[in-house]
Amino acid sequence: MNRPVRIAWHKRASAAAAREPAAWLEGGWQHSDAAPDVLRRILTATDPAEVEAIRMAAEKTLLEHCGDTVRLRGLIEFSNRCVLDCHYCGIRRGNRAVKRYSLTLDDVVACARWCADKGYGSLVLQSGERRDAAFVRRVEAMIRAIKEATRSEAQPDGLGITLCVGEQAPESYARWFAAGAHRYLLRIESSSPELFARLHPENQWFETRVACLKVLREIGYQVGTGVMIGLPGQTVDHLVDDLLFFRDLDVDMLGMGPYLPHAQAVLPGEIPGAQERLRLGLRMIAAARLLLRDVNIAATTALQALADDGREQGLRFGANVIMPQVTPPRVRAMYTLYDGKPCLDDTAEQCAVCLENRIASVGRKTAKNQWGDSVKFARR
Ligand code: SF4
Repeated sequence: MNRPVRIAWHKRASAAAAREPAAWLEGGWQHSDAAPDVLRRILTATDPAEVEAIRMAAEKTLLEHCGDTVRLRGLIEFSNRCVLDCHYCGIRRGNRAVKRYSLTLDDVVACARWCADKGYGSLVLQSGERRDAAFVRRVEAMIRAIKEATRSEAQPDGLGITLCVGEQAPESYARWFAAGAHRYLLRIESSSPELFARLHPENQWFETRVACLKVLREIGYQVGTGVMIGLPGQTVDHLVDDLLFFRDLDVDMLGMGPYLPHAQAVLPGEIPGAQERLRLGLRMIAAARLLLRDVNIAATTALQALADDGREQGLRFGANVIMPQVTPPRVRAMYTLYDGKPCLDDTAEQCAVCLENRIASVGRKTAKNQWGDSVKFARR
């Protein structure tokens, strides 16, 4: 039976509370019938010593399988125009309060050059969803121009490019891959068809999104997905199913985050408190690391919206990707999928310095001038 998400927040365990990763997490449970029970135990653990033991096991797995470097992807939110109306999203088409923008090709290339000069190695091109021919051409032109502008001795193949522009026709995916994009993030938001249907209007289908994820893999992209954590009506069993969905889809990357409401796009129903959502978000990262081992997992900005050190905590629980903001500050506030998004006013330079310090504060270092592909993908 589904258990509602209701878990009290406990103070972070002291280092003395647990000196060893939990023994029950060892062994080959990941592909056995025991996996759901192990994942449920990770997500519902409340004893601080056990939580710390889980965290340590996730960190150990990360270091063994992916090393200690944090992969950076400069995030360029190049347009907030969207033809869809996801119920939870602040920039959905139906929100008339949002001023719309699209960066020019020159703007985008300038952001990309800045990333290359900083040694970021990769960037993410993200926007609201459009599928018209002009949009498809524009994305293709951006990919080609970024590659052209960022080739150097340090980066002979130019910056690595991740796309995050939603459900598209297979031909569009193939065209962008041929132009030089090689990673694609398409979040499923929930692997439960029923929850998915509650999050989206009737013209958006769970099956279409899953089909897109499969097409992306066939084309050759590194494929990433993710979910929102702490949604109204979501249970621990839903989250366990999300993790098994990632495993069975054999994803290369994950970008998950706590659900954060937007004043003009509020989902009906109760949600767990902020600390509970943060705690669940961190447990999901640890559970995903322990289940999937060598995938890339982002410490998302949504974690930082709930706690100033949310992203650092994400790294400590097994994440290894950070996406520094490089969207020009003049438009950044117009790309708010949720309320309370951090770093709206900081320049790209300020974000770079801040994140370097945050990453160093948890004893990790950044990978410079590397695409930072997922180890799982490299093994294929
Ligand atoms: S979540 Fe993405 S596709 Fe949905 S409304 Fe927001 S920007 Fe558009």
